[in-house]
Amino acid sequence: MLDIMTLMVTPFGQNCRILAHQETSDAVVVDPGGDAELIIGAIEQQELKLKAILLTHAHLDHVGGVAALKAKFPEVKIYGPEKSDEFLLKTLDEQASAFGISNSGSFECEYVEDGQVLQLFADASFKVLHTPGHTPGGVCYYCKEENFVLVGDTLFAGSIGRTDFAGGSLEALLNSIKSKLFTLPDDTDVFCGHMDDTTIALEKHSNPYVR
Ligand SMILES: [Zn+2]
Repeated sequence: MLDIMTLMVTPFGQNCRILAHQETSDAVVVDPGGDAELIIGAIEQQELKLKAILLTHAHLDHVGGVAALKAKFPEVKIYGPEKSDEFLLKTLDEQASAFGISNSGSFECEYVEDGQVLQLFADASFKVLHTPGHTPGGVCYYCKEENFVLVGDTLFAGSIGRTDFAGGSLEALLNSIKSKLFTLPDDTDVFCGHMDDTTIALEKHSNPYVR
């Protein structure tokens, strides 16, 4: 079983998640957007063994703390996003001045592909769902064993991701949500990059943006 902790980071209230295995203390951090000291503090306080970082997309409020975590935990592997977000990773400094938030530096990541399965825990894996629309290389991570999906800024409780940033597309976003997320089991928990969490069933039946 995994414990899932949420740390709200950056002035944008980004939901960084720490997934921690209850028996082994192995841990995975998802979207460390900033406030790296806070994330490192939580990992150290609980004596977790950080194995990997998962990235849903390359906006700075989701990746701004990656370099600081990598410096602190050099063994950690960095997965995602899909390669089409490379242009965003190359412009982190420009994003920092545009968003007015800090960037802990550039980093190397292992790009992921649609359908790829990351076996990050002995008993929990993460299937990559390429979900372009908010950014071209945006991905979601579906954990079948624990019945949740990490969606970044693709889908929100009662809303959807913005499509007015570089490389965004409303048509692509709606297609991603309908074809990749709404085909998951209804009772799947949806962990969003900002604001509240939700479920696939709730969004299928009441999200006004996706009909
Ligand atoms: Zn974003």
